[in-house]
Amino acid sequence: MKTTENAIFPKGEKNEIPYFTGTSYLHMLISNDKDFDCVVGNVTFEKKCRNNWHSHPGGQILLVTAGEGYYQEKGKPIRLIKVGDVVEIKPDVIHWHGATPTSEMTHIAINTKASLGLVVWGDAVTDKEYNSYKN
Ligand code: MN
Repeated sequence: MKTTENAIFPKGEKNEIPYFTGTSYLHMLISNDKDFDCVVGNVTFEKKCRNNWHSHPGGQILLVTAGEGYYQEKGKPIRLIKVGDVVEIKPDVIHWHGATPTSEMTHIAINTKASLGLVVWGDAVTDKEYNSYKN
């Protein structure tokens, strides 16, 4: 089992927003700023945790710093993501991200062009969708 014990940035506080299934933690690294126009947060997903289907009006970049997780875009198979992976999410692409059933996962989430909007939330990822990963 992979763990997030060696995570680089603080784990932060339990994430209480209702658009996640399972337990996650958030530590903000860069809050929104008109000059940078981006928001950067460190997010840790416990095993089985994932966020809802969603999109980012200004796009998002994920840098995986610990553990192993899943990333899926609508209509595509789930992709396994690991430490060192970079995920480029173009504006308005519907997707979700989270841990695997057997590993926690930590990523830095960089929301680009934040002034266009940070996130548009959709439905929860069902167990059937979450369990559809084929290696
Ligand atoms: Mn996202």
